[in-house]
Amino acid sequence: MENSDILLLNGNYSISLYIHVPFCRSKCYYCDFFSVPVFKTTPVDGIVEGILNQFDYYISVLPDVKIETIYIGGGTPGMLGHCLLKVLFSRIKSIYLRYHSTWNIKEWTVEANPESITGKFIEVCKEYGITRISVGIQSLHNDYLKILGRPGTSHDTFKALDLLRKYWNGDINYDILSGIPRASEKHISDRQEKNLLNDIDLLLRTSPEHISLYSLTLEEDTEMYRFVREGSYIAMDSSREEDMWIKGASLLEAEGYDNYEISNFSRPGKECIHNLRYWHMEPYLGLGPSAVSTMPYIQKTETGRNYPGIIRITGKADINRYLNGIKAKKNPFLNTNIEIISPADFLFENIMMGLRLKEGIPKDKFIKRFAKGLDEIFPGLIKQWKSEGIMKSGNNNYSLTKRGRFILNTLLLNIQKYMGLPSLQQIQVRWPQDKAPEK
Ligand code: SF4
Repeated sequence: MENSDILLLNGNYSISLYIHVPFCRSKCYYCDFFSVPVFKTTPVDGIVEGILNQFDYYISVLPDVKIETIYIGGGTPGMLGHCLLKVLFSRIKSIYLRYHSTWNIKEWTVEANPESITGKFIEVCKEYGITRISVGIQSLHNDYLKILGRPGTSHDTFKALDLLRKYWNGDINYDILSGIPRASEKHISDRQEKNLLNDIDLLLRTSPEHISLYSLTLEEDTEMYRFVREGSYIAMDSSREEDMWIKGASLLEAEGYDNYEISNFSRPGKECIHNLRYWHMEPYLGLGPSAVSTMPYIQKTETGRNYPGIIRITGKADINRYLNGIKAKKNPFLNTNIEIISPADFLFENIMMGLRLKEGIPKDKFIKRFAKGLDEIFPGLIKQWKSEGIMKSGNNNYSLTKRGRFILNTLLLNIQKYMGLPSLQQIQVRWPQDKAPEK
């Protein structure tokens, strides 16, 4: 299929917008997101311009589509500096308002590292209607920050927390890491557990709306992976790490935070709407290098346009190729990877994402989307999960028990064994469900 034959589907449905700012002060050892350090010659303004041009194009072909949430992540958005952040925030709004009469964004998050949080940063966020700041804390201990290769110190974090407490009235999320490898035998894992619990305790005193407690995963293309493989770092034993995470989670739950998704905790009603939409597999548009979009599309054919399908567009993780692609305005998909998502793959993704949530997947929504229930598609398996206490029965959602969520990866491998069945190749998808008839 030629990229120029692809048209994104316009209609009365809503999307989330993700903007990837690909700059960081330095590269953290465990990170496999696309980001580069900023030098004098780095085209920082060019990237912002590129993101805005990309947005302008998409909004012009999707004039009836509403944006429900925005998430600016990276990278470190604060690396853009206040002036460029203002340009980005204000033009996102003005471009959208060219095609829409109201600005009705339910949630607008900006990620920030502690050292990039200043009084001015908070002021700019407030001025442009950001509703949520997500702070990448990871640890309050300098020795762990050093092991992680983080650019800031715990002093920066305490300073940022103080500024947020004084000047920020919106919602806050903290990212915390459990299971950080040790740099030597001297770092006792018992002490690590105590430190993690102390960190959580200290952070809870600032009453954040949301906390993400992640287990550190060793990604292959990272320095951390190399350090562990070469023996200069010692990875934490997985059952020890699991214990530590469970204790951290219990502390959060005891303080009234709901573990609504595998790694996420929130005060009631303060779940991250943007991420909930990912877990519910709602359409999203990604801007910036390496950003991913999953959208409904239609294809031009000789006889007209065919029925909508699902497309995934992934931008190249390369600043220059991104800028060259954006300059070639006639082909917005230049230098992106385009993948058509088959109904069976989309079904699998819905299960994989939805079962991460404590509330699971609403049955009515699932049936509207796939014309069948999960128990009709995998009758034997679902019955078995229910009888083994892995899946809850008798409610309006397909949801796993706590034990089920702990072994989600194994359950997904079970599901994958069925994916080649001929019956699954017949699956029909209606997505997005709130779209108006095609124009
Ligand atoms: S600051 Fe965040 S995005 Fe940047 S390198 Fe570190 S972990 Fe990755």
